[in-house]
Amino acid sequence: MAHKIAIVGVGKIARDQHIPTLAANDDFELVATASRNAGVDGVDRFEDLGALLKARPDVTCVSLCTPPHARYDDARLALESGKHLMIEKPPGATLSEVHDLEALAIDRGLVFYSTWHSRHAASVSAAKAWLAERTIRSLEVRWKEDVRFWHPGQEWIWEAGGLGVFDPGINALSVLTEIYPRGLFLRQAELQFPENRDTPIAADLTFRDPGGAQVSAQFDWLKDGPPEWDMHIETDGGYALLSEGGARLTIDGVEVDARRGPELQGEYPALYARFAELLARGEREVDLSPMRHVADAFTLGRRKVVAPFHW
Ligand code: NAP
Repeated sequence: MAHKIAIVGVGKIARDQHIPTLAANDDFELVATASRNAGVDGVDRFEDLGALLKARPDVTCVSLCTPPHARYDDARLALESGKHLMIEKPPGATLSEVHDLEALAIDRGLVFYSTWHSRHAASVSAAKAWLAERTIRSLEVRWKEDVRFWHPGQEWIWEAGGLGVFDPGINALSVLTEIYPRGLFLRQAELQFPENRDTPIAADLTFRDPGGAQVSAQFDWLKDGPPEWDMHIETDGGYALLSEGGARLTIDGVEVDARRGPELQGEYPALYARFAELLARGEREVDLSPMRHVADAFTLGRRKVVAPFHW
């Protein structure tokens, strides 16, 4: 029987991905939404999760699609109400609050899935397998996009806890931590804050790889035109370009055909397939390594004030 699931936060990502993905997945039935200003045709609609859980006690799973700094109270309420939980990236406003949620899920014996959609991009697993057999000399992340195009009018990204350019940047870090064959840690960072905003608009990160490779990342939210979501990787066995957010891989200029693996299904279908698997096994999946690098960048980073940002 399908898991009865509720979505909280009917905004851009819920509409673009979660709702169509659930409609095509027989493991789940979307039975209710909690959102102040929006709903889904034909689905019970509530303004907040508390009202939803009272009216629909048959809901067994909750998927949170709200911004990270507006998520903790709903996450705790869902778990305290005995519901299995899946959350969007970034997993929260702080590492500690996510640890707190994980401990609660363990205590209650509930599934808790902290998702990283970019890890399911079509060529990520191929890149990981290729790197596992080579010595990396350098890896450069370039994650640059036009904030006005990709986040139109989203004020929360500029609020403390909204993470600014690390909202897309954490996608790059989720791929990096997935494909890199060992742990990295941040050595140096510069974060550029618009003088009228609380979160950065650009960041330069330099990592320390105990294995000796040069690893760096540039995040930029003021790039005109098409986005650049790329990783350039030099190894002892060739040069790899993982591009389009992990969707394409070329090795020494030759395209690697990714259209064979399970990733073919798409990032969000893969996330809900994984959630169904975790539910069947009664397991949790919470990897905070991408967010740890973000927290380290805010701890270690030099702050540079730049021109004000206006939409
Ligand atoms: P969004 O559309 O701005 O927000 C989602 C919804 O959350 C809003 O429509 C709002 O619905 C509700 N909400 C509750 N508290 C809020 C608050 N304090 N501020 C703003 N909205 C609040 O954002 P989104 O782009 O869908 O992103 C949501 C999460 O998904 C983020 O963590 C983001 O990183 C992640 N994500 C986004 C994308 C993307 O392409 N946009 C891609 C992948 C992942 P009501 O007003 O109806 O309550």
